[in-house]
Amino acid sequence: MRVGCPKEIKNHEYRVGLTPGAVREYVAHGHEVLIETKAGAGIGADDGAYVAAGARIVGTAREVFERSDMIVKVKEPQPQEWAQLREGQILYTYLHLAPDPEQTKGLLASGVTAVAYETVTDERGGLPLLAPMSEVAGRLAIQAGATALQKANGGRGILLGGVPGVLPAKVAVIGGGVVGLHAAKMAVGLGADVSIIDRSLPRLRQLDDIFNGRVHTRYSTIDALEEEVFAADLVIGAVLIPGAAAPKLVSRDMLSGMKQGAVMVDVAIDQGGCFETSHATTHSEPTYEVEGIVHYCVANMPGAVPVTSAHALNNATLQYGLALADRGLRAIAEDKHLRNGLNVHRGRVTNAAVAEALGYEA
Ligand code: NAD
Repeated sequence: MRVGCPKEIKNHEYRVGLTPGAVREYVAHGHEVLIETKAGAGIGADDGAYVAAGARIVGTAREVFERSDMIVKVKEPQPQEWAQLREGQILYTYLHLAPDPEQTKGLLASGVTAVAYETVTDERGGLPLLAPMSEVAGRLAIQAGATALQKANGGRGILLGGVPGVLPAKVAVIGGGVVGLHAAKMAVGLGADVSIIDRSLPRLRQLDDIFNGRVHTRYSTIDALEEEVFAADLVIGAVLIPGAAAPKLVSRDMLSGMKQGAVMVDVAIDQGGCFETSHATTHSEPTYEVEGIVHYCVANMPGAVPVTSAHALNNATLQYGLALADRGLRAIAEDKHLRNGLNVHRGRVTNAAVAEALGYEA
């Protein structure tokens, strides 16, 4: 197959669909790979690195779209990209179609076969192509929180790990899934006093085993949430109810019970946020203050670290991408996890949740 990777054109998107390492794997499987010039610039991979990996560099996105049997990207295609897709071509990328009727229409009109990273599943019922970005966001949440806690940045001026003779900061992680686990790992690593609050007892048992006494686990009740949030210097919001808006677990009223200068990082902001006072922010202006509490609510946190994020994403997408390139539509027919990833095929919406959200027949 001829596999193509255009440069991402969405605002402030620096990741790339194929790293040079991934290109080498596709080439080793006998595929031809076309890369748009400078596609890897945002992660420090120049055209030479792609050529060394076996790719052919082309000057424009148009050539990539025209000449490739399969397009590998990161973000959902933008309008000028929909227009270049065609029937018989496979598109493999994040799509997030449910809230995006315009893009869905564009993909349907093109006739393309679109596999969405975010709905590919694995044997454990997880979403393996979403997990790496949650790992990145969880780890980054502590770095962002630690920075915001510095006095000059509006925080209360406390060091997460303390020093010998001075107590460490208290970190409350609400939601102990992928984001929560990775946030807790970083916070524990820095020496903070960490609590994880979740409403799943089996998950709390697992976390208790993983951390072996180095975090406090709390079952998520209003009482427990209040106690932990009021005591915290840094609160990480990391809950998810699949397919639904995030529940507002920290109300505006609760802010008055918190320490002045405490920081709240709402990682769940991409699902509407789990604090009542959250609104989405950007990397150029990541924080704002409400009643003396610093809020950090960046909706695309992994975008801050495209080198790590692009490699983490490629590690997760590679095996499914190779299956698509090796076996084409047969790979989708034979593998239920890839089939779950299929969102649009030859003018039809094929994912039940997307169809329901947008009023199409699946
Ligand atoms: P996950 O499903 O692995 O974990 C969510 C956890 O929340 C689960 O353990 C669940 O039991 C828990 N939970 C649900 N309701 C709860 C409640 N009332 N109280 C306490 N815990 C509760 O999800 P994840 O991969 O960790 O993602 C978490 C959120 O982070 C999602 O909204 C995801 O979209 C978001 N996210 C944001 C970014 C970003 O850049 N801002 C990046 C990656 C992920």
